[in-house]
Amino acid sequence: MECNIIRDLIPLYIDECCSTESADMVKEHIGSCKECKELYEDMKKPSDISSDLPASVKLNRIDMWKASILQSVLLFISFALIIVGVASESVTPYGITNGTWAMSLIIPATGFMLSLANWYFVKLYKSRKTFSVISAVSTLGLIASGYLWALLHYDMVATLFNSAYEIDNVFTLVHFFIGAVLTMLFCITSKILSNQYAKWLGKE
Ligand SMILES: [Zn+2]
Repeated sequence: MECNIIRDLIPLYIDECCSTESADMVKEHIGSCKECKELYEDMKKPSDISSDLPASVKLNRIDMWKASILQSVLLFISFALIIVGVASESVTPYGITNGTWAMSLIIPATGFMLSLANWYFVKLYKSRKTFSVISAVSTLGLIASGYLWALLHYDMVATLFNSAYEIDNVFTLVHFFIGAVLTMLFCITSKILSNQYAKWLGKE
């Protein structure tokens, strides 16, 4: 009978959550009862083991934070670029150059931002390499689809060749060039950073 009461008290005794009377009772009992002493030793163990672990567990948690911060920062940057593109577009006077900020900044940034959705599926990938390659390819694919849609929707090619203003054509081409460079940068960034992201999440 007494053993049962002591056994109920042992967890509280280990956590130092019981009164001094109860603690004294447990201490006295386990001093004389072999079975309860063994149970006490067993229950004490798990916390000893977990206190040996932290080094790796803590490192993992820090890495998980780094991975989440990286993803958030990239989301923020691409969204900020979209805002800048939209703002620049709105102050561009109507004409042949209309839509060029969308072509050079908004489309690449949107494609990159959408490709970050793939990062949520990192755990489903077999290897880090596959994941980072797919990340870069999806970045390129999404940006390319954006460009294709814009070219068809705004009839950009026809407008470019039919324009009477040579200087506007140069301006448009400069924006196309910026867009192409940004697309390349986003794809490289996607490859390198998604690899680092997966590494932090412990992916082989
Ligand atoms: Zn006992």
